[in-house]
Amino acid sequence: MDNEIPLQEHHVMAKMIQEANRTMIRHCDIVIANLSPFRGPEPDSGTVWEVGYAQAFGKKVLAYSNDRRSLKVKTQAILNLGNRSTDKEGLMIEDFGLSHNLMFAECVVAEDFEGCLKYLQHSSASLQEIIQLGNPLLRQHAKKVEEIHSQETQSLIETLITTAQASKGIGIAAPQIGISKAIIIMASYPNERYPNAPLMKPTALINPEILFHSKDKEKGWEGCLSISGIRAQVPRHTWVEVTYTNAEGKKEQARFEDFLARIFQHEYDHLIGKVYIDHVESTQDIVTEKEYQKKMQALHQKNAI
Ligand code: ZN
Repeated sequence: MDNEIPLQEHHVMAKMIQEANRTMIRHCDIVIANLSPFRGPEPDSGTVWEVGYAQAFGKKVLAYSNDRRSLKVKTQAILNLGNRSTDKEGLMIEDFGLSHNLMFAECVVAEDFEGCLKYLQHSSASLQEIIQLGNPLLRQHAKKVEEIHSQETQSLIETLITTAQASKGIGIAAPQIGISKAIIIMASYPNERYPNAPLMKPTALINPEILFHSKDKEKGWEGCLSISGIRAQVPRHTWVEVTYTNAEGKKEQARFEDFLARIFQHEYDHLIGKVYIDHVESTQDIVTEKEYQKKMQALHQKNAI
């Protein structure tokens, strides 16, 4: 923005540049920042501020740096500190093996701008398309997974997790990306699709089975990445006790209650050729996504009062 704002008094110009910069960041989809060393081992402070500002708005932020040595090695070299772990004031040099400060090091993915674009291209290619209701694969029984440690199974798990996260899903099953194998991911976290979801680390459940379940069922809202645009009230067991094999190949037993029990039953359905609308008691329990969002907003406001 420095060269776009007309010349005027310094303090007026500074304010205008600041505001124009903020506006531009708020309106963009992705920020690609230059975090190369600037007059010392650290990047330009204005750019660092912009990275944080963009992240606070939930923007995707990628960065490049022409020096991706670890922060410690880079600081020692640029400030001529030799092998010392402290700087000239005696302050420790951050040392987590990262190329930048730990608050934003994960943004730095390439050496230059082109590298960031290539990274974007690659990461969106690994996202899988989610198949939609009507595709016969959603009505098949999934095959048991035999080779847990194979490269194929491990990368399928990773792809499922990235796809669920990118679609803001709290769970996904392999058949939903067109692979008829008995793997589900549970990845509950509160988001705009499910504001009240509990937080859970994305977990792969391979060859899951239901051992026991509650006698009674409770109705609750569900949606599905394979059935866009609608939501419905679905009766589900309030708890389930299940077995599965984890991503490391270990047999596990777990008990899920309430919302997690619901996610499990929803995803398990995908492995036996079912979808949630098969369980709906009345067509009156089905609403559009738009109406569902309105209902949830009204409920939030009521709770807030
Ligand atoms: Zn689903």
